[in-house]
Amino acid sequence: MRKVYMDNAATTALAPEVLEQMMPYLTTTFGNPSSVHAFGREARTGIDKARQQVAAALNAEVDEIIFTGCGTESDNTVLLGVAAKYKAKGNHIITTNIEHHAILHTAEYLEKNGCEVTYLPVDQYGRVSAEQVAAAIKDNTILVSIMFANNEVGSIMPIAEIGAVCREKGVLFHTDAVQAVGHVPIDVKAMNIDMLSLSAHKFHGPKGVGALYVRRGIRLPSFVMGGGQEKGRRAGTENTAGVVGLGAAVEMSCAHMEENAKRMTALRNRLMEGIEREIPEVKLNGHRTERLPNNVNYSIRYIEGESILLMLDMNGIAASSGSACTSGSLDPSHVLLALGLDHETAHGSVRLTLGDETTEEDIDYVIDVLKKTAERLRMMSPLYKG
Ligand SMILES: *Cc1c(COP(=O)(O)O)cnc(C)c1O
Repeated sequence: MRKVYMDNAATTALAPEVLEQMMPYLTTTFGNPSSVHAFGREARTGIDKARQQVAAALNAEVDEIIFTGCGTESDNTVLLGVAAKYKAKGNHIITTNIEHHAILHTAEYLEKNGCEVTYLPVDQYGRVSAEQVAAAIKDNTILVSIMFANNEVGSIMPIAEIGAVCREKGVLFHTDAVQAVGHVPIDVKAMNIDMLSLSAHKFHGPKGVGALYVRRGIRLPSFVMGGGQEKGRRAGTENTAGVVGLGAAVEMSCAHMEENAKRMTALRNRLMEGIEREIPEVKLNGHRTERLPNNVNYSIRYIEGESILLMLDMNGIAASSGSACTSGSLDPSHVLLALGLDHETAHGSVRLTLGDETTEEDIDYVIDVLKKTAERLRMMSPLYKG
């Protein structure tokens, strides 16, 4: 049976050339990067190079990059850190109602601990505007945190405009760019971004390693306390091989970004056209053009997303409904509900996210299986009148 992996928003395959660069750090170059002897210095060299690679990918300075344990940790560091550090200035945080749970659950925790949080509503495509952000900023606002691109419906936010508003009003601006890095161009200087989270396993790097960009002049408390690693900004012996892999993966993704985006957009459009041609009564979730080049998300009316996923899986296709973190729960996705979908339509959604390895044959196979799946499940559905 054909095997098609279309869940790249959940995680991506480690690229062979990334593994190759990691290998020495998993074997011979095992020294502790904080040690002063040759073993340590050699490991340190790998981390230094990775920091340059990340800085170059974002147009940041080398000393503005902190390595973390994952994208979630980067997000937690910003929200908890800014809330603690700027307590005297204010307690108001602005975010959106379609953020990843790494942001939303942290914001809810802060609400229970004395912060005030505004969750900006998104439009039917999953976007907020800079005007909404400007209108929500108050005297006690200490942070605006808005994701670069959504992990479920792929909508891309007007980050440069939001950055300009925040800079003008003197409010710190963080973006969870975990889905965007390596896929769309990012320039933290031009976009007035103060802090940015990223995670290696979303762009063909290893799992369990992330990074945080923090603009010079902003000093957050360390989320993990202990030794003086990362100049005191994140304690714990570095995941050297992971960090080296993150650096290699971000460099590789950015070097091929334009051609990859072009190829992926063509494949994505082929998939969207195929679904809309072959399956009646489907609804595209998210924006038709302002979306990640690899993201496709549809509601297929009258049937359950979970049943679709099972049948796709039986045919060798890995897809998802909503995000990986919430699948398995029966609650409909908070993102789809925020876009204004009713519960039934939200339940019937399927997300297909393409990767570097996706081919045209994969796309055509998925269209064919999805069409047959929809027909079969609809025949069994009491809601479907045919
Ligand atoms: C995957 C993801 C995260 C979490 O990153 P991890 O490295 O898996 O902790 C955070 N935000 C978004 C938008 C994501 O897609």
